[in-house]
Amino acid sequence: MKPARTRFAPSPTGHLHLGGARTALYAYLLAKQTGGQFLLRIEDTDVKRTIPGAEQEIIDGLHWLGLDYDEGPDIGGKFAPYRQTERREIYQRYAKILIDNDKAYPCFCTPDQLEKTRQEQLKRKENPRYAGTCRNIPPAEAAKRSADGEAHTVRFKMAQEGVTIAHDHLRGDIATDNKQLNDQVLIKSDGLPTYHLAAMVDDHEMQITHVIRGSEWLGSFPLHVNIVRAFGWEEPTWVHLSVFLKPSGKGKLSKRDSAEANKDGHSVFIKDMEDLGFTPEGVLNWAALMGWGVAEDDVLTLSQMIERFSIDSLTPSPAAVNFQKLDHFNATHIRRLTPEDLSARLKPYFTREGLKVNDDVLQKIIPLIRERLTTLDDCLAFGAFFFKEDVSPTPEDLIAKGLDAKQSAEVAKKCLEILSSLASIDHATAEPALRAYVEESGLTPNQVFGILRVATTGQKVSPPLFESMEIIGREKCLQRIQTALQLLEKI
Ligand code: GLU
Repeated sequence: MKPARTRFAPSPTGHLHLGGARTALYAYLLAKQTGGQFLLRIEDTDVKRTIPGAEQEIIDGLHWLGLDYDEGPDIGGKFAPYRQTERREIYQRYAKILIDNDKAYPCFCTPDQLEKTRQEQLKRKENPRYAGTCRNIPPAEAAKRSADGEAHTVRFKMAQEGVTIAHDHLRGDIATDNKQLNDQVLIKSDGLPTYHLAAMVDDHEMQITHVIRGSEWLGSFPLHVNIVRAFGWEEPTWVHLSVFLKPSGKGKLSKRDSAEANKDGHSVFIKDMEDLGFTPEGVLNWAALMGWGVAEDDVLTLSQMIERFSIDSLTPSPAAVNFQKLDHFNATHIRRLTPEDLSARLKPYFTREGLKVNDDVLQKIIPLIRERLTTLDDCLAFGAFFFKEDVSPTPEDLIAKGLDAKQSAEVAKKCLEILSSLASIDHATAEPALRAYVEESGLTPNQVFGILRVATTGQKVSPPLFESMEIIGREKCLQRIQTALQLLEKI
């Protein structure tokens, strides 16, 4: 296949979310697989909806995911600028070409007039559409009125007869009766283009070969192919991706679902993912398989995806978002990281809790906790105690099942004696000594080791006890058991 040039063209009007990330991923994969280029273009012509900081969030999100672009607003490129508000003159020039070729016309209708017509149409139960008032103003008169500074928009002159056949790579030919189509605005009265004109012009100028975008654009698709054809340009391959459904599979994913997802530690926003302990590998793998017909449980890295990707295997069928799958992919990718990589990624989760991380200790706990991690921040639940000076167990947790506080204190005291008598409490030394005590005491391992676990780690669930104690170290363990004993004696 010829090198593809693809783009991710978000509007900076909100957070980068799952849908955008998946669109960017597919565009990236196609470009990389074919030895082409992937570029970022910021579509900010709807100035009122632009949110400060949104562009940076998009850039940061793409970098975090590892979807590095070859051209973009912050790095430039052959077709700069890559921010549409900086390309205003380009769109004006192209709009003029359409006007000169009778494919577009200036429209002088005021917002009030347009609204009045709309209301009348609604009253007659008609679909609101432009009434065509300015469509037939003689070009010379229209040109004069524009030149005299009369406020106007530029509208596309849509054919009123016939049918538009638009070809989507996943859906085949889509036929639309031209009577259904409207004379859409291409240039607004503020001189900025609408998405319809800007995106078509930029895709042409930037030599985009494949337009991969969300299915919300299927409605304007016939208009878009008409614009491209009016210029006489070669059409890109159009790929409208599948929609995301709610986790229940019923209805489209909405804002409310993302609030719901937050409740159990998930999110559809990329900027939250890192905070929540997700890895870019897990997120990409999860996003990739919603809408791509590879096996649902295929564990793929970005480079494996580049090898296997094909736009022919994308599916137009809606995909229900399944957060359990995200957990699964995240956990799987965590297990595949090298110990060095994993420790580097875990460290910030400890430090953001104010813990001082000893790198040697961190290296040592990796084998103990990695199998237990679904998200990176789970390391806190399983390993924060390794980096604390003291732990503060709930006194009641120190009471073993079937024993009372006094009996549990006896056990703690005995353990303290045994461990104090040992020169080292490494796993191989401490375990046999403590197991011998379990045998002779007639207690169960659960009772004895349970007390020790809560005493030394401060919690009921922890990585394996003896390995943990070895890493915590003799002095700290003895001191923690001593504190536990005092707590038990006070109950
Ligand atoms: N700016 C459009 C959006 O954010 C881009 C659609 C496209 O990729 O062409 O939805």
